[in-house]
Amino acid sequence: MLYSEQKNFDEIKAYLEKNNTCFIVGCNGCAESSGSGGPKQVEEMKKKLTEAGKNVTGTKSVEFLCSKALVKSSLKGKVDQVKAADAVLALTCGIGIQCVAASVNKPVYPGCNTVNRGGIRGEWEGTERCDECGQCFLWHTGGVCPITACTKSLLSGACGGANKGKCEVNKDRECGWELIYNRLKERGLLSHLDDMLKPMDHRKLFPRPEMMALARFGLENPGKVTDQPKPPPPPPAPKAAAPAAGVPAPGAPKAASPTTPKEVK
Ligand code: SF4
Ligand code: SF4
Repeated sequence: MLYSEQKNFDEIKAYLEKNNTCFIVGCNGCAESSGSGGPKQVEEMKKKLTEAGKNVTGTKSVEFLCSKALVKSSLKGKVDQVKAADAVLALTCGIGIQCVAASVNKPVYPGCNTVNRGGIRGEWEGTERCDECGQCFLWHTGGVCPITACTKSLLSGACGGANKGKCEVNKDRECGWELIYNRLKERGLLSHLDDMLKPMDHRKLFPRPEMMALARFGLENPGKVTDQPKPPPPPPAPKAAAPAAGVPAPGAPKAASPTTPKEVK
């Protein structure tokens, strides 16, 4: 499971600044479990964007957005609403956003960040990958992840070493930044490359203490659990009731009884 959380609403509004109309897609898988992109959050986002002056042409919650085949088949009944939108907002993890961006011929923007959980990931059929950087950059790169598609995880553009579309580090791989460039060109978004991204916040590349405290993290990362919840302090010892007159307190040494026979020598 990939854990995601919604981006700040001002950030989402900024992505959609030049788009008057948008379509919202959510995910009934991990994003619903995370409380970031299920049907409830899709409806809430629709309300907020409408109040902010946007025309939401439609919404769709898909069982799993990490499957391109499922994205395409689920949106078949919504083709007109998607066509009427200037952009699509995806409330889901990094994999889901990449799958939507690969399936819909529109600018696709991320409504969520995928939170780092220290390497706990599921399996899925597609080639898309997410390194849980906690600050999803897919809004800038046309829905192609610069962290996982580029061998050097470059954020500021191509290194210049690609040859015939292949990466200089690994010739079996496509150059991630050529994929980004081609996607932006195809969607009319090349102006994104006029701006530089802010430097990555490396603190978000590590699991948060609350994530590291999860039992599953501990099982999969033995020796790395640093912030397990502390056990509660032991309850205070019950106060002993004051002994009645003539009755010794519990544990007190026994007083010699006047009736105890003297040791016979
Ligand atoms: S930019 Fe890439 S690694 Fe970061 S959250 Fe998005 S898909 Fe995942
Ligand atoms: S050739 Fe392309 S994918 Fe490889 S490191 Fe350079 S920019 Fe990244």
